[in-house]
Amino acid sequence: MTVNNLKLPSLSEVANIWQQTLHWTPTVQQQVQFQQLYEFILEGNRQFNLTRITDPQEFWEKHLWDSLRGIAPLLRDGGDENVISAPTLLSSLSFIDIGTGAGFPGIPVAITVANSTVTLLDSTQKKMTFVEKLRAALDLTNVKTLTGRSEEVGQQPQHRQTYDVALIRAVGTASVCAEYALPLLKQGGLAVIYRGNWTQEETKALENAVNQLGGVIESIEKFTTPLTDSIRHCLYLRKVATTPVEFPRPVGVPTQKPL
Ligand code: SAM
Repeated sequence: MTVNNLKLPSLSEVANIWQQTLHWTPTVQQQVQFQQLYEFILEGNRQFNLTRITDPQEFWEKHLWDSLRGIAPLLRDGGDENVISAPTLLSSLSFIDIGTGAGFPGIPVAITVANSTVTLLDSTQKKMTFVEKLRAALDLTNVKTLTGRSEEVGQQPQHRQTYDVALIRAVGTASVCAEYALPLLKQGGLAVIYRGNWTQEETKALENAVNQLGGVIESIEKFTTPLTDSIRHCLYLRKVATTPVEFPRPVGVPTQKPL
């Protein structure tokens, strides 16, 4: 496979999809960065075995579009006082991507909201080594990296109650994700939990966990992906009170004894 021959769908092919689904279109520069990201991941896959998603259309949908669909409420133009609107976003927010792996959703978000900072957190040093190389190659000056377990980072004063938005995709069950994310948020901050399927029963079960952590389930968005019509959900949790000091619990406890 020659990496240089593989091209993401061009901006003219997908501009309408971006606009219709996210009310936002990448600039030419952002499109160039998305292509660089894609090529860097393909190259890195040889050494780091990062993702099974290598086909350009699939990468565009499952890694780029899906990552940014999670922050669609932030990209949308104002209007609703309960979401952090585009003008607020333009004034710079601090994001943290918990369990970022090869940099998703955090890297596409960092490319898109260039004047906000995005901290990429993962417990695996190998993943962070790759992500640091990626950051340098794409010259993403708004990206910070952090190696550690979210259970520990969430108890560190320099990170606890610090972030405006926490993103978390494919890291654990929703209640585990909530326990990782809510302690890291400032009061008023937003956690975005990316899911595939989701049911009302799961919402009921999650409510109790989120309440214990000082949050509320603000909204749940169901949508289909634009190329393959796959079902997705994003859960938006608002932090409305201080998270009690016992959360997050020590390493491993959130998964072993979910709230
Ligand atoms: N978020 C990426 C994505 O959607 O492509 C990667 C998902 S991968 C399945 C899960 C990642 O979460 C792994 O890289 C793993 O090391 C990391 N992870 C799992 N538990 C963690 C924890 N408690 N703290 C930090 N990272 C964690």
